[in-house]
Amino acid sequence: MRQKRAKTYRKLMSLYSMLFGFRQPYQVLVDSELCKASVDHKIELVKQLGTVLQGEVKPMITQCCIHELYLQRGQQPAVDLAKTFERRKCNHREPIPGDECLASVVGDSNKHRYVIATQSNLLRGKLRLIPAIPIVHINRSVMILEPPSDATMRAKALTEQQTLASTAVAEKALLGSSSTSTEPLPKKKRRPKGPNPLSVKKKKKAPNMQSKAKANTDARQGLEAGKGDGEKHGQSADDSVSSRKRKYAEDNEGSTGKQQTGDLNMPESIGAFRKRKRRKRTSTNEPE
Ligand SMILES: [Zn+2]
Repeated sequence: MRQKRAKTYRKLMSLYSMLFGFRQPYQVLVDSELCKASVDHKIELVKQLGTVLQGEVKPMITQCCIHELYLQRGQQPAVDLAKTFERRKCNHREPIPGDECLASVVGDSNKHRYVIATQSNLLRGKLRLIPAIPIVHINRSVMILEPPSDATMRAKALTEQQTLASTAVAEKALLGSSSTSTEPLPKKKRRPKGPNPLSVKKKKKAPNMQSKAKANTDARQGLEAGKGDGEKHGQSADDSVSSRKRKYAEDNEGSTGKQQTGDLNMPESIGAFRKRKRRKRTSTNEPE
């Protein structure tokens, strides 16, 4: 076998091995006509199969194929050769033509990964429609491994796409796992995006504003009572956290403030005036 052909066959068999799971020893289903051809051309069939497929081979023959040889006269050498092969049970009770038998054994997908060695052009044509079937035949005295069929090449492209996709997925997963340090960054970016805490605070602020307004009104009322009190109220309203506290404080301050104003501005002897002022204060507080 020439070197170039050997190289193409090696490549082809590596394709069958890598993509379609062919393993040595390759199971080669040999048909009756190929047995006869190898005898006629004095080819060492098993040795040649090993050379062409570039590995260990296990030649096999189906019950129907060897039956075809039994029926023919003067084919004893071919029968003897076929008897050295492993018999493949095809479960055809009544022997059927070898082509049909091999086609049925291969099925739709050649799931048992057979190499088919046949001299039948018709069968080879059928087998080319099924992906991943290495096909061997003898041309004169040369054993030939067919180039991959279109179906095989399509299946090859498909599996390569799938492997690419799976590797892409795997790479993405790897990137995801490796770049965990980069993932928190978008999370950080999300924080300003979701201003939920701020919005919640705003909601809290809204009542504060109302309370502030109230406080202001209170302060004005306080101003009516006394200027000093009013200023105090204003400060307290700005600083205050909760409206209740403020109210409480205002009430207290208001009362104390009056007392202070009473103490400071009014002579102690005028208790009646104080009482009047207190009444005023209570009257102003009542509407609230
Ligand atoms: Zn059969």
